[in-house]
Amino acid sequence: MVEQYNQATSYKVFIHVDAASGGLFTPFVDSEPDWDFRLNNVISINTSGHKYGLVSPGVGWVIWRGKKYLPEELIFEVSHLGGTMPAMAINFSHSASPIIGQYYNFLSFVFEGYQKIHQKTRVVANFSGKN
Ligand SMILES: *Cc1c(COP(=O)(O)O)cnc(C)c1O
Repeated sequence: MVEQYNQATSYKVFIHVDAASGGLFTPFVDSEPDWDFRLNNVISINTSGHKYGLVSPGVGWVIWRGKKYLPEELIFEVSHLGGTMPAMAINFSHSASPIIGQYYNFLSFVFEGYQKIHQKTRVVANFSGKN
């Protein structure tokens, strides 16, 4: 429907996908339906690393389809070491440990590891105890 609308107007509508819970789950256990950048009008997606990314609380991710979709208001010129540099962050003074943890998990589990873990998670979640 968004695609149809965008075809008919010059005022385009774009989609942000709040994949906080599903963004690090469904890619490993469900191939359908398409919900990500495979859809033309999806321009940004967030996900929470501290949920199905399996890291400690405090880390989330947002990605944009391309730099042109990143709102300029989110970029700050930060004074750093005698110069300025563009920065895009919500919190400047926060431990990087969950980021390192996420990176470690990605490298350790790789796709197949996350897939195995999340398939087991689904089995447990669907267990009714009545059988
Ligand atoms: C958890 C959740 C959020 C909040 O994300 P945090 O990374 O915990 O701040 C937003 N939207 C949905 C759908 C969620 O499940």
